[in-house]
Amino acid sequence: MTAAVATTCPYCGVGCGVSATATGPQSAEIIGDAQHPANRGRLCVKGSALGETLGLQGRLLHPLRRSADGDQQISWDQALDTVAGTFKRIAEDHGPDAVAFYVSGQLLTEDYYVANKLMKGYIGTANIDTNSRLCMSSAVAGHKRAFGEDVVPVDYADFDVADLIVLVGSNTAWCHPILFQRMLAAKQARPELQIVVIDPRRTASCEQADQHLPLRPGSDVWLFNGLLAYLHQHGVIDTRFVADHTAGAGAAVAAAEHSTGSLAHVARSCGLAEDALRRFYQSFARCERVVTVFSQGVNQSSSGSDKVNSIINCHLLTGRIGRPGMGPFSVTGQPNAMGGREVGGLCNQLAAHLDLEDAGHRTLVQDFWQSPRIAERPGLKAVDLFDAIHDGRVKAVWIIGTNPVVSLPNADKARAALQRCEFVVVSDVVRDTDTTRCAHILLPALAWGEKDGTVTNSERCVSRQRAFLPAPGEAQADWWALAQVGQRMGFGAAFDYQQPHQIFREHAQLSAHRQAEIPRQFNLAGLADLDAQAYAALQPLQWPYLSATAPVERPFANGRYSTADGRARLLPLLPRLPVNMANDEWPLVLNSGRLRDQWHTMTRTGRSPRLAGHRPEPELEIHPQDALMWGLRHGGLARISSRWGQCVVRVRTTTEQVRRQVFMAIHWNDQNASDARVGALVNPVVDPVSGEPEFKHTPVRVEPFFVDWYAFVLTRHALRIPRASDIAWWTAIQGEQFRRYELAGRGRIEDFSAWSRALLSAQAPDADWLEASDVAELQYRAAHLVEDRIESCVFISPRADDLPAREWLSGLFIQAPLQELDRISLLVGQPATPGADPGPQVCACFGVGRNTICAAIRAGTASVETLGAQLRCGTNCGSCVPELKALIAQTRSEVR
Ligand code: SF4
Repeated sequence: MTAAVATTCPYCGVGCGVSATATGPQSAEIIGDAQHPANRGRLCVKGSALGETLGLQGRLLHPLRRSADGDQQISWDQALDTVAGTFKRIAEDHGPDAVAFYVSGQLLTEDYYVANKLMKGYIGTANIDTNSRLCMSSAVAGHKRAFGEDVVPVDYADFDVADLIVLVGSNTAWCHPILFQRMLAAKQARPELQIVVIDPRRTASCEQADQHLPLRPGSDVWLFNGLLAYLHQHGVIDTRFVADHTAGAGAAVAAAEHSTGSLAHVARSCGLAEDALRRFYQSFARCERVVTVFSQGVNQSSSGSDKVNSIINCHLLTGRIGRPGMGPFSVTGQPNAMGGREVGGLCNQLAAHLDLEDAGHRTLVQDFWQSPRIAERPGLKAVDLFDAIHDGRVKAVWIIGTNPVVSLPNADKARAALQRCEFVVVSDVVRDTDTTRCAHILLPALAWGEKDGTVTNSERCVSRQRAFLPAPGEAQADWWALAQVGQRMGFGAAFDYQQPHQIFREHAQLSAHRQAEIPRQFNLAGLADLDAQAYAALQPLQWPYLSATAPVERPFANGRYSTADGRARLLPLLPRLPVNMANDEWPLVLNSGRLRDQWHTMTRTGRSPRLAGHRPEPELEIHPQDALMWGLRHGGLARISSRWGQCVVRVRTTTEQVRRQVFMAIHWNDQNASDARVGALVNPVVDPVSGEPEFKHTPVRVEPFFVDWYAFVLTRHALRIPRASDIAWWTAIQGEQFRRYELAGRGRIEDFSAWSRALLSAQAPDADWLEASDVAELQYRAAHLVEDRIESCVFISPRADDLPAREWLSGLFIQAPLQELDRISLLVGQPATPGADPGPQVCACFGVGRNTICAAIRAGTASVETLGAQLRCGTNCGSCVPELKALIAQTRSEVR
């Protein structure tokens, strides 16, 4: 075992510190870094399971040329020459706008910096956009309009002293769990702290909130315009602050009053009870220290930028910004969305928080880079970029560290665009993703644990991601591949980087360059001379960072903003409805988002059995009455259709879902499900200012997806599901020492035994087969044993409800040999001993199932604390605490 390495979690924008100790070439022990200010040693379940996601299974280890004839391994030299030569030729023949990069909020700042420099300063186009466009570009636009610069003016420590925390469009309990735990800890220390959740869905975050406002989707601007008017009418204004440090308050208040009218009218517009709305307005008015947290529920909208500014307006009118315990707080979804913003990773930004559309800023950057040119106008934003690829305006694209065939709206069109594109390069760590299937050249990238650089979290804290594992195969850092291409395109000296610290130092120098003339909050002047040793030892630090001795000043603490006149701007805003509304043809509104234990397209989290346990399958969440109305049943299958595409997933009925609204998670793709890419359904509507897509509001319709049989297979070996077969629907789930396949099909299976043996064809030919079938009932059960160890099992029934629960059977795969009693119970699918089936997983940290928890509650355990003391559930990361609370309430009401 080697020494522990301090690094940073690769998932969400909380940016937790991780201490990783390599235990082998592809394994490590992971714990939280107690020294890191973001998490002080805590990790959520995704962070704690990082060790389970390491390993080379499915890795892309060598450069490949991919064609219809198959993959051909090529050398890095061949790959880089091909990429550089093709990009150069296309840019010369068709102009620089005919090429593009599409990058990712998971890149390190150093990768991002080199990509942006190469595209904007050397190739000479701003056609570089990032998947961060999809999650927080509305926040960027809102910040720039209000503050003159994209600055988040709040720290995590502000939660510790706030009087009111408002969560808007943010299921913080699931998406930023460590921040949520910090809020709950603050509430425990100071019970007077109020938490209000504003969200159309009743999410896990609501379980511990003082108030939940289930507003109508898209009505946020009504709500915050109404609040602005209320604050104005009740004299809750910091007149000195407004007079000295802002502009536009009069027009903003007039627009708010004009657009909202009475409180009753606002409540109606938002679909809320008037009393509940008044209560929230009174709390906001009363509490000086208010932090308004917002994320994708606000940003991913056709009026996302206005929603952001409607929140900021309320903070500016009351002067609640730039001081402890208050401010508008955009929390980012990705680990380095903020770092990408620092280096100008979006197509309408320049590096170092400078403006692409300002000639003086362009000159500054070009002078600093000494580049032959500089992009003069914004490039194509993500959705427009893929449209341009589709219609042939963009002929070459390099996609780095992202999976747009899954994550973009109208995702089938994104796939078609790549399939018809002249030249597609994909840098990735995984060989087969929905996007790498469209590539002509595949470049193997370093993964988390192998790469070395920096990331910046939601509170502007720069941390190191350090390598603790050796680079496998021929994998290389993304910055290295980009720099190599830059050199081969003829820009040698500007891309002569040998080490990441050289890139970071240049980035820090640019941030400090000519600050006296063009002052920005983003400033890393204190790191402008960083050498390799200091970079290696760099501790987490927040910007603005002027020197090792100067205290870090809270942004805007002096009331001076980054606008030309130093004043923040309140904006007059008029509420707008989502572009596509539900109607008779498309009567339901689809909302999409994350699950507690998964991340993005599951290329990493999908490998962890522990993380798969909570919500193993893609599902449609729908209110029970809507399900009844549209002929769906809990556990059955539904086809969801929009004007743009279709999906087929399992139905989960839940009263947490408001009537006429449905929800699907974003994680599944063609590698792990037959038909569950939610991006294929999502309308390609974008915010006119930010270009961020409206992921939260797509009109859809649902209908039952009729099948003749349901089945599941648990097996130690991966199955190859035949494309043209009687299997009409499937999903694959990683288990502990097995894979689970949920299947459904059409037509009659004439010979169950032959069908099952064919499906499991290559597996264990000498296995013992235990079989039971009821031909009249069309039921079949089989288990295959090798030396008293279960190899696989198959259960088939015409009704999904008749299949046994999977949890107990799953547990048998980690037993060797099988106990006699378990062997007898195998085909029953249930343990002989009552109580031995833990049920679906609730606490992923300690693997505690729903049945176990409910049994304890029925036996008298009445609080989360006592459940924790008894079963350990909820005592580590705390992500399951909201669910435990809900289970206690539900089970106790059943008992009564
Ligand atoms: Fe990682 Fe969880 Fe921390 Fe986010 S909250 S950075 S996923 S450990």
